Amino acid sequence: MDLWIRIQSALLAAVISSALAVTILLRNRRNRLYQLYATFNLNLVAWYISDALSVYLGASTPFLDKVRVLVAIMIPLSALRFFRAFVSDKSLLSDRMYRLFVAMAVVLAVLVVADVHRETELVDRAIYGYICIALYVSLYFIYRRFKRLESKVERTRLQYLMVSGAVAFTLALLDYLPGIGYYFFGNILTILFLYFVFQIILKLRVLDLYEFLGRAIVMATFSFVVAGIYVTLVVWWRKEIDLFVFNTLIASIVLYILYEPMRVFVEERMNHLLFRERYEFEAHLEALRRQMSTLINVEDLADTILRRLETSRRVTHAAVYLLEEYGLAYSAQAYMGPLPLRRLDRVTHHPFLRRLRDQAAVVLENLERERKQLEEHGAPPGAVEELDNVLATMTALHSGVALPFIADGHVLGFLTIKDDRLREAYSSEELRLLAGVAAQATLAIENSRLFDKVRDRDRLAALGEMSAGLAHEIRNPLGAIKGAAQLLEGGEPDPEMLRIIVDETNRLNTVVSEFLDYARPNRKPNLVETDVNRVVELTLDVVRADNPGRHEIQTRLMNVLPKVQSDPEQLRHVFLNLAQNAMQAMTATAQSGTLTVTTRLVESRGAALEGETALIRIEFADVGAGIPDEVRKNLFIPFFTTKQRGTGLGLALSLRLVRNLGGNIEVVSRPGQGSTFTVVLPARLSPVSPLVLAPTGNPS
Ligand code: ADP
Repeated sequence: MDLWIRIQSALLAAVISSALAVTILLRNRRNRLYQLYATFNLNLVAWYISDALSVYLGASTPFLDKVRVLVAIMIPLSALRFFRAFVSDKSLLSDRMYRLFVAMAVVLAVLVVADVHRETELVDRAIYGYICIALYVSLYFIYRRFKRLESKVERTRLQYLMVSGAVAFTLALLDYLPGIGYYFFGNILTILFLYFVFQIILKLRVLDLYEFLGRAIVMATFSFVVAGIYVTLVVWWRKEIDLFVFNTLIASIVLYILYEPMRVFVEERMNHLLFRERYEFEAHLEALRRQMSTLINVEDLADTILRRLETSRRVTHAAVYLLEEYGLAYSAQAYMGPLPLRRLDRVTHHPFLRRLRDQAAVVLENLERERKQLEEHGAPPGAVEELDNVLATMTALHSGVALPFIADGHVLGFLTIKDDRLREAYSSEELRLLAGVAAQATLAIENSRLFDKVRDRDRLAALGEMSAGLAHEIRNPLGAIKGAAQLLEGGEPDPEMLRIIVDETNRLNTVVSEFLDYARPNRKPNLVETDVNRVVELTLDVVRADNPGRHEIQTRLMNVLPKVQSDPEQLRHVFLNLAQNAMQAMTATAQSGTLTVTTRLVESRGAALEGETALIRIEFADVGAGIPDEVRKNLFIPFFTTKQRGTGLGLALSLRLVRNLGGNIEVVSRPGQGSTFTVVLPARLSPVSPLVLAPTGNPS
């Protein structure tokens, strides 16, 4: 039984080893490291096969036995050569050691060929000792490298390698110690170890090793559970053959049901326990993707991404670049860490952008590796320069990884990230998730464009409506002017007609300038320290002058109103409009009334953070007829007016100006009793002395 296990495990190991050797050679036959790895594997294959054969055939074939021992003598040499190259140890010491082992191998081989080892056990022991020492020395090469390394990540990686190598070699060697060996674990572990090495030399991305380890653990756990289920269900009742079939069936069904949830569970626990940092990063990225799916504003996109990356604490540098309007360059929308390149023009950085277009992620270490390989194996002309150009761009961007936002083959923008504390800071799995984030960002950009289009369409529709209103507003006075002019034609100058002409021309002028005011896209407020009370008073002076007699104007101005950053000219415009509307509303009721203007400072709800925000309220309360509901709905819509000679632009423009200043206009109205229009403006107070400010205005 033992022998069968030995033969089987040896054959299994031989199959896998040769698969590894062939796979690596297929990747690149000329790479020296690959060649040495393949040689080491093939040496082991030869050993496993000759060992299996000699066990199978017994001691009856001295020739085979000789071959077997010679193959064994070769193993340490191929191992030493491979590990030396693997850690690129070109020191004299390692060279001498290698030569020493070669010498030993030659001596031992001669002894074997001369059949001396048949006469005394000493030779066998010497061979065994020689193999032991050589294998540990090859691990010692790794250790030497490990000692010299500074990068923490790479040290960890070599640490894993040394420990797993030591365990695998020890068990494999123990297997061949008479009386101890199971001829099973050693072989299997050696193969696992070789696979581990294979992963390292092929991928060379450190963090993938963690993944590899994680997967191995998941697989092992899973195998144990599966074995457990089979053992309990099948082996227990195996005395009856019918039951055996039945139980196998049940076990398979149970497995089938359990497989997926169990895999997820084990993987999740594993990730959580072993790779906490990564697990959290993934959770952050997932959250970011969800967050982005609701974005419609490109301006928010960069901020959202950066804020999330910052909280993840897995990046030290990050920036989001978007294509500029005319498509000539990409400009940084937001960044964290030191200032990267602000603008990346498309011509100079063409190679980088081309790579970005063709790859889901451009990774700095991969580029460096590619550069090295190009140097080693020769490269087509221009390839190295191009790669250097890409590398230079990556450096200028402070980028470890660049992820494109691609739509229809066009790079709309990209995200760059870097973790300065680590080399190879992101595993393949993480890069995959980051690429997902980039894809989501692309969607957000496209959505926002769509949204902009819709908004443009709405704006055009509104403009159309407004133009209709404007035409109407212009046609009326023009009609009046024309009528008056016709009456004047040929006759005496009539003062009444001339007044109509002047009035209507004035009105035309008002309509056109108000319209222009309104239509002008967001006029930037000219922010200065503004005393709101003073602006109110100046405005009311004008109103009083325009409306002599009939109505009264009262002010209740809070005398310790803080000054605010605002645009006094625009405020005056707004106040004038509200006051005039109030006067007109009161005039319409045919009684005399009072306009009361009040200013006050109130605390804004939910403030108390950051320099505490307060609000200034400026109320214009009239005792006019109030505003019916159907009028109320349309109050702020351009050209909506109930007045014979109104333009319907006053409130629309006022609201736009106030909003631009960060404020709002509120309306309270009771039909029959009057209306109150309130301008609310934000006032940022100094946290130290909130009210030691601008004592102005007399309470009246
Ligand atoms: P206009 O004054 O040219 O009509 P506005 O935009 O200033 O344009 O006002 C739009 C409409 O809102 C007015 O025609 C009027 O019906 C209503 N309105 C504005 N202010 C008041 C007020 N204080 N009382 C009653 N109605 C008002």
